[in-house]
Amino acid sequence: MKTSPSIEDLIGIEYSKLGFFREAQEKITQLRASTRELERRRQQIQAILDGITDVMAVISPEGRITSVNHVFYDVFEKVSPVGRICHQVFRDSTSPCGRCPARIALKSNRLCRQEHVLTIAGVPRHFEITASPLRDPHGHPCHVLLLKRDVTVERQYQAKLSHAEKMSAVGLLAAGVAHEINNPLTAILGFAQAILRHLPEARNRVPDDFGVKLEEYMQIILEESTRCREIVQSLLAFSRPHSGSQSPVNLNQCVQETLKLVRYRIKEDPKVRLQQELDESLPPILGAPSELKQLFLNLLLNALDASHESGITVLVRTYVRDDERICLEVQDTGCGMHRESLPKIFDPFFTTKPVGQGTGMGLSMCYSIAQAHNASIEVESKPHKGSTFRVVFGKIP
Ligand code: ADP
Repeated sequence: MKTSPSIEDLIGIEYSKLGFFREAQEKITQLRASTRELERRRQQIQAILDGITDVMAVISPEGRITSVNHVFYDVFEKVSPVGRICHQVFRDSTSPCGRCPARIALKSNRLCRQEHVLTIAGVPRHFEITASPLRDPHGHPCHVLLLKRDVTVERQYQAKLSHAEKMSAVGLLAAGVAHEINNPLTAILGFAQAILRHLPEARNRVPDDFGVKLEEYMQIILEESTRCREIVQSLLAFSRPHSGSQSPVNLNQCVQETLKLVRYRIKEDPKVRLQQELDESLPPILGAPSELKQLFLNLLLNALDASHESGITVLVRTYVRDDERICLEVQDTGCGMHRESLPKIFDPFFTTKPVGQGTGMGLSMCYSIAQAHNASIEVESKPHKGSTFRVVFGKIP
């Protein structure tokens, strides 16, 4: 027999519904609070991530990029790399890198640091790379966090510093050796000249053919010792702080006067074309004209020496860069230089020219003259395409 629910039963059900509703409301309030807290934390973490100036990328065990920070888009490409293989994105290469830091970090479950050179928009850039494994709750590496810091400028400064240190050490050594050689060399030259002077008197006391040979040998001794003296003098000039007093100098005038010295060589050679683009309104620089002419002459002679069968065009330019630097540029379409030669060209005695044609002192003298003028020398060169040597001076304050 069906019994209808009592009043107590009905109140009980409603009461329990009321309790459930209240509980659900409390849970919703708690959930809302924790969502707000989570959002606050997310924003905090995002702000920290946005504050990191290194390129960040998370890489999966298969080598696919799963996320990157905003710096990635500033340094690399503008399109999203997510889902793509890392070596394709960073190196545009179809095969994995030799000692891939991400793989090493995944395999060893430890941090891996390396330095790589990546070419971006045709320009080589140095990156310090840190790969750290991201671990699952059991401590197993499941992804890798890659941080790439662009250290190109630091490396350039380090290279400049170590080059300057090397040059000053070489300068000291060169000065010592040059001083030691200078004195005996002066004696050799002096005595050779004296023998040559007295040779006609001794001629009648020695057989004729011996007299001829003696004169010939003495001439060779004189020529070779003179060549040695020139080398010693350029060594001394390289190592000695330049003493020419500095005054405002018109760089264009130095260029014109130096060009007169090589004009005969340019005129004689039909394969050489000389072009000039001298800025008429070039402000003066502070310098010693004789040293500046020497510097320009060395650059010019090297450009002329770089000529190959099809001839050469040498362009001499002066101009103002960025409103604060004054540039003297010697550009040639000659043989150019190999990448391996470039770090050595300012070293004393570095030459690729045949014996007797180059002493390897020209550019080291240019370096030391530029130093004395607080100037720097920039070099760009490509084999078989040509070279550009740019001397960059500061303006007179
Ligand atoms: P040298 O001219 O006696 O060899 P330098 O110090 O002037 O000595 O030059 C050193 C080297 O640098 C040269 O032997 C040559 O290999 C390279 N070099 C300098 N200028 C140029 C240039 N314009 N084109 C190609 N190579 C150059």
